[in-house]
Parts: sequence; structure tokens; C-alpha cells
Amino acid sequence: MRNQLAGLIALVAGLAAGPMDAIAQDLTREQVHAADEFAVNNTWFVLYHELGHMLVDQLGLPVLGREEDAVDNIATFALLALGSDTSDQALIDASHGWMLSDARYDSFYMSDFYDEHSLDLQRAFAITCLMVGNDRKKFRDAADHMEMDTGRQRSCADDYAQVETSLVALLSPYIGEGAPIEVVYEDGGADFGWAERILKRSKILEKTAEDIGSSFALPAPITIRATLCDEANAFYDSETREVLVCYELIGDYFDMLVADMRSEESD
Ligand SMILES: [Zn+2]
Repeated sequence: MRNQLAGLIALVAGLAAGPMDAIAQDLTREQVHAADEFAVNNTWFVLYHELGHMLVDQLGLPVLGREEDAVDNIATFALLALGSDTSDQALIDASHGWMLSDARYDSFYMSDFYDEHSLDLQRAFAITCLMVGNDRKKFRDAADHMEMDTGRQRSCADDYAQVETSLVALLSPYIGEGAPIEVVYEDGGADFGWAERILKRSKILEKTAEDIGSSFALPAPITIRATLCDEANAFYDSETREVLVCYELIGDYFDMLVADMRSEESD
């Protein structure tokens, strides 16, 4: 009854996405919780990715290869360095997120191959490779689950060592405290107020601002702004020195996991 009522309210209010819509779809409380957690964890990875772009820009880091791959490595390395159950799960979810994102499309276009980003599946495996390269015991199940073979899992230790050596060499001169990173939440509005709430509750923006802000001597203040953007995305703007985290991105990851749970139910 509660679900029907909430569903009716959601329909009347014209809400398009998120838990209200999820309740209208008869999701259990556990499923909503799982999708919330998945959405927050993937957003956490994306936040570190955007802060990677910020570090490249603000510290003038040299980049060999594609910057998008390099900052995925920074995000993965930073989350591995945290080493908590939560950050480990965030990496597992981020890799899973890129796999689910890949599964949304039936075919490729030329633009997928000349895009500045690697293909979604490559991004999923690059994250998993550094995870298993960092700690095979801890992440072997995740890599097995993704069908990465044993030989590659082993050689990923070299991939991880190279990323670690490179980042330590590049970032060591900047260790210390510099300009602060501020966190700002804009209003999520009627459609994405729920996303604003779960993001605030997770404290990932504050924790990450503290992690990066207290680690590196940034030359100028940075703002992390959670906001509505009209698209499911996140950005680093070098003009304003702002990282934008779109509430719609959280909605998109929420929907992605719900669709996956639905397809597993129907199998
Ligand atoms: Zn990027």
C-alpha cells in the first residue's frame, strides 16, 4: 500500500528519476539502498577522475598518452591508497559501472574509436587491472568475475608498479598544504533532491576535498560544486577552477543498477 501511494505521488508530481520513480517501480528498500550505494560509489570515482584533470591543470603535470586514461589511473590509485572497505567497494562498483555502461549499446560508431576516452569496457578493465595489480588477494574475485585471465591478472602488478612510480615521481614535489578546496551544494530541486540528499549523507565530496586539499599544495582555491546540469555528467572547468558534479549523473547510475537488477530478475 505504501508503495502504491508513493508511486501515485511520484506520478502526480511528474518525477522522472530516482527513488520516487524506483518506488513506483516496486523496488524493495534493499534494492533502493543498493542502487543508492552504487550511484554514490560511481560518482566518487568520477569525482577523483575530475580532480585528476584539476591536478594536471593546476600543477602542470606532464601527461604521456591520453589524459583521460591518465586521470582514470589517478582516480584508481587514489581510491586504492585509501584502502578502506568503502573505497575498495567504490572501485569494484566503478569497474562494474563501466561494464554496465558498455552493455547499454549494441554497436560502435567511428566516434567511439576517436573519442578522447577509451571504450567503456577498456576503462572497466583498466581499473580492475590496477586493483588486482595492487593487491591480487583482495581483488582476485572481482577480476575473475570479469573474466580477466590469470596471466593478465599477474602482469597487472607491473602496470600498477609503473603507475605508482610515475605518480610518486610527479606528485612528490607538490606534497604539502596549499589553497583550499571548497564544497558547495546547489539545490537538487523536485526531481533530484533525493540525489542531493544521498550525496550529502555520503560526505564523499567533503572527504575527497580533504584528501586532495591536504595532500597537495594547490596554487589556487578550487570549488567542488554539486549541481543540476541538464545532463548526466561531471566536468572540470579550468577557467573557474571548478569541478561540477551533476545530480543527473547520480540519477543515471541509480537507473543503471536498477536496469541490471531487473534484467537479472528476468533471467
Ligand atoms: Zn575526463
